Amino acid sequence: MKNTVAFSKNATNVFFHILTQCNLRCRHCYINKKQHGKNTLPLETINAWLKVFVSKNKEANVIFLGGEPTLHSDLPGAVNKAKSIGYSSVTIDTNGYLFHNILSEVSPDVVDFFSFSLDGATRKTNDMIRGKGSFDTCIQGIKDAILKGFSTSLIYTVSTINLHELDKIIPLLKDLKVDRFFIQVIGIRGKAAENKQDKLQVSRKDWLKIIPQAAQKIARLGIVVSYPKVFLPLEEPFECAGLVADNYFIFPNGRVYRCPLCEDYPLHGLVFKDNALAKTPKINETDFFALNIPEGCVMNKLIQPDNLSYNPDGTCRYKIACCMLKEEIRINL
Ligand code: SF4
Ligand code: SF4
Repeated sequence: MKNTVAFSKNATNVFFHILTQCNLRCRHCYINKKQHGKNTLPLETINAWLKVFVSKNKEANVIFLGGEPTLHSDLPGAVNKAKSIGYSSVTIDTNGYLFHNILSEVSPDVVDFFSFSLDGATRKTNDMIRGKGSFDTCIQGIKDAILKGFSTSLIYTVSTINLHELDKIIPLLKDLKVDRFFIQVIGIRGKAAENKQDKLQVSRKDWLKIIPQAAQKIARLGIVVSYPKVFLPLEEPFECAGLVADNYFIFPNGRVYRCPLCEDYPLHGLVFKDNALAKTPKINETDFFALNIPEGCVMNKLIQPDNLSYNPDGTCRYKIACCMLKEEIRINL
């Protein structure tokens, strides 16, 4: 069954970058230390910031990110704190290196998912993007996590470099038995923005030809698959998650964004001051969310417009969806 996943108005989703340090140097890494800081948050600060998003009336979910979050020696403490103060789900996103023996320091009762990043079906392609040895380490990490009883996801960030390998990942997925497979689209920010000559953005033609079909094939393995819609027909309604959803992208320098596409700029709408959330002065991202343009997402038009296309009379051929709007496929075997 294929479903467009509407933005949840009844859940708060916290994407918490607890440090920006990482052992890898991926070619498309979106971390931008000038904008996100170089510090590692102390556990007391992580705990204080986590508390801000818990409320009695709404479910809250947290995803711990970095850099590589398992490089933070206090990650187990943060994970346990999140569950004990009422977070409904806790996810750890990792490159698979699983530092500080994390699989033995947390339990499947507390961590709902370990999400691993792999950007190729082959060692050659993945390691070209993510660094030598990262393919084998990630696969081993997934196997170890499953053996310890954790639920796992795999995140595959699609760019022009690895698009052709997406459906070649099926035998690997059959072998691994991950629970969920997330296809992401490359965002032109961080390193991808610095290295624009790499031309990583996928065309609409290639996206529509390859992604939905590959997703369907992968879902037939019994894995829940999700992928961003990216391209919307003109007649489909457009919504900006910044206006209707409750997502927070937190960085260790205290910046809190509502839109991931803004993260390369000092446009964050919120900031932590004395462990409380404060609004930032104008102009910030929230001033853009309500702008109604024929192209759909305003930030897409401003920062990565190469995926847009116009008719000879200047009208748009299609709209760009919010980067957080997903299709989800579930096939019960
Ligand atoms: S593993 Fe993640 S944080 Fe580390 S370099 Fe790669 S994309 Fe960046
Ligand atoms: S990606 Fe575009 S539509 Fe989505 S929150 Fe950002 S500005 Fe809004």
